[in-house]
Amino acid sequence: MKPLLLTIPILFLLLVTSATPFGQKPPLGPGRKYTTVERMHIERLRAVHKDRLRYKNMPRGVHLRIVLGDYRAIMHAHAEDSPHTGGTRAEMLADAKRAGVQIIMLTDHPSPERDFITGSWRGLRDGVLFIPGAEHKGFLAYPMASLRGRESPERDDFIRTVKADGGNIFLSHVEERLDWPTADLDGLEIYNHHTDVKDETEFNLWLRTAFMDPERLRQIERALAEYPQEVMGAQQDYLTEIIAKWDRDAQSHRLTGVAANDCHHNQVFTITAKDENSIEIGYISSRPRTTRVNANQSAGVAALLSGSKPGELIARLDFDPYERSMNYVTTHILAERLTEAAVRDALRSGHAYVAHDWLCDPTGFAFVAQGGVSKLVRMMGDEVTLSQGLRLRGATTVACTLKLFHNGAEVKTVESDRIEFEPRAKGVYRIEAWLTVDGEQRPWIYSNPIYVR
Ligand SMILES: [Zn+2]
Ligand SMILES: [Zn+2]
Repeated sequence: MKPLLLTIPILFLLLVTSATPFGQKPPLGPGRKYTTVERMHIERLRAVHKDRLRYKNMPRGVHLRIVLGDYRAIMHAHAEDSPHTGGTRAEMLADAKRAGVQIIMLTDHPSPERDFITGSWRGLRDGVLFIPGAEHKGFLAYPMASLRGRESPERDDFIRTVKADGGNIFLSHVEERLDWPTADLDGLEIYNHHTDVKDETEFNLWLRTAFMDPERLRQIERALAEYPQEVMGAQQDYLTEIIAKWDRDAQSHRLTGVAANDCHHNQVFTITAKDENSIEIGYISSRPRTTRVNANQSAGVAALLSGSKPGELIARLDFDPYERSMNYVTTHILAERLTEAAVRDALRSGHAYVAHDWLCDPTGFAFVAQGGVSKLVRMMGDEVTLSQGLRLRGATTVACTLKLFHNGAEVKTVESDRIEFEPRAKGVYRIEAWLTVDGEQRPWIYSNPIYVR
């Protein structure tokens, strides 16, 4: 799917700008006190940054030890796959190393020119494991081999073909598919960055007008220079409807929740002086690639042009380098080793959790079941038998708001770095960890469920 910070043509925008009710607050999602536009103020961004540092410097406890590796994976990633993608695989690899990401599961927009399996990267490159795949027919599809010549237009056949011999498949862009069945899938995207951006109507209008408003443009340039990660985090929300579907569907079958970065490195905007009277706005993610605006169309153009010669770059705003997207949200995969087979197996088994790493490093998070009839420790994704003495335990590396859910209902909440619960009923149990940042509650970690049968 194509991230659309810019979908409304600029000329349409010029007509509606004066009527846009910026004064009216859009409805605020769970945990929020501020709108995204408010979060973009430099004081807000600074406060968020301060709280990130506070969490970073907290002493870290390890309360539950899992004897598996905790690998950061980027699922749903685009490079060199479509006209609206700005980044390359080489750039992605370099940025993965900077962001501490060990796994990249590519999701090409398939094209007739290149096979998304045989024509892509597969295996370890410079310490980063690549698994090729596609964003196709509403899914993240990671088949074991090329689908060329074996693709059926029928949905169930497609799912079977992708899963053949150990392939993985996840429902993608769930906001468009809330009624799709998930019983035959490995899982679904419980967070998708593009989904989160889509509904930011107020912010998107605010951003578009910035290209013709010198004051707002300077505000954004400064924000990106001083607090780039906080700018990306400004849109972060809790996707209530999608989580509700996950909670519903997981009651009848195991369903692994994963994160979708949907990174393309394409939220890059340039403003160039065209002549004495007009500017040109350039973008990657929408067509046409440029829009020309003259001083008669917008009052800010004259001020933007002052001091610039024709052809000169006035501003360049780069919102989404891969490194920043990768820091923003990942799927942590708990596996014995960094191999394609182990990663595929962990995803199928739900041995994974979703985290907004940018808020605080979650590595070391655990959610396990202990006691009861089995002497073994079982972990998120596993099925356990309801029995006397069974305990569910969760632990984070710093104190936060820990919420335990049973079949989607919040049954216990603590302010702590650990939570314990004795289940009395069968069902699906999972944990969310939230952090307090600039006075707001932000979702930080989503565990996969433990299924008590
Ligand atoms: Zn995508
Ligand atoms: Zn795309």
